[in-house]
Amino acid sequence: MTTPSTTVAAEHGVHTGLALRAVTLSYPDGESRLTALDRVSLEVGPGEFTAVAGPSGSGKSSLLAVAATLLRPDSGQVLIDGQDAGALGDRARTALRRAKLGIVFQQSNLLASLTALEQLLVLADVRGERVREARARAAELLDSVGLSGGKQQRRPHQLSGGERQRVNIARALFGRPSVLLVDEPTSALDHERGARIVELLGEVTRTHRTATVMVTHDRALLDRADRVLLMRDGRLSEPT
Ligand code: ADP
Ligand code: MG
Repeated sequence: MTTPSTTVAAEHGVHTGLALRAVTLSYPDGESRLTALDRVSLEVGPGEFTAVAGPSGSGKSSLLAVAATLLRPDSGQVLIDGQDAGALGDRARTALRRAKLGIVFQQSNLLASLTALEQLLVLADVRGERVREARARAAELLDSVGLSGGKQQRRPHQLSGGERQRVNIARALFGRPSVLLVDEPTSALDHERGARIVELLGEVTRTHRTATVMVTHDRALLDRADRVLLMRDGRLSEPT
């Protein structure tokens, strides 16, 4: 669903949230190159939850890596709140990523020795936020994703797969991102738990007004998204 403000902004050529314009990405493949993304265009506005479904190897993680400004495309543009990431040098791009993007990677990269609360607080140190404020905000965020009191003091191995995924989502939101990128959030979960994680992503998208892109190979979870797109052989299309 497109919000009115997005429509107005689009008319003036400035798009808040995430925009990809004709993005092509290839990887070296022996003597030639393998095209992982083939002229992919996509716009996701604030508060919009877009799901991208496609089989393994279709380019979903590549799409997120480019949107996350972690990989530079061969051609095309990546705009974050209207800022062209390709026009920035490495330092400015890293700063843009920190300021604007929340990323939940497919491989949970929680630190084994830290509690759920501390997973968020290590980011506060990096950002120079006051400890007491950061602590209160981290606790509130964890609460909002369904991890209350005692669970916040647990380390990753003391949490279930679904709970770890909730920590990952809270951590991605901690930097107040405009754009939230989520790679296969349910791949390690059973259907019921996976469905609840996708539901949560819909909720946080509305609460935090993030432009959210979730990629998944699991077609069963798509009905909760505002919009579904299909990825096949590096090309993005509307479902028919
Ligand atoms: P998905 O996430 O949908 O499984 P990927 O984006 O991981 O798809 O991969 C898309 C294609 O690009 C696949 O053919 C994959 O083998 C290839 N690929 C992905 N990453 C690399 C890489 N770092 N180097 C070379 N080929 C890659
Ligand atoms: Mg992938």
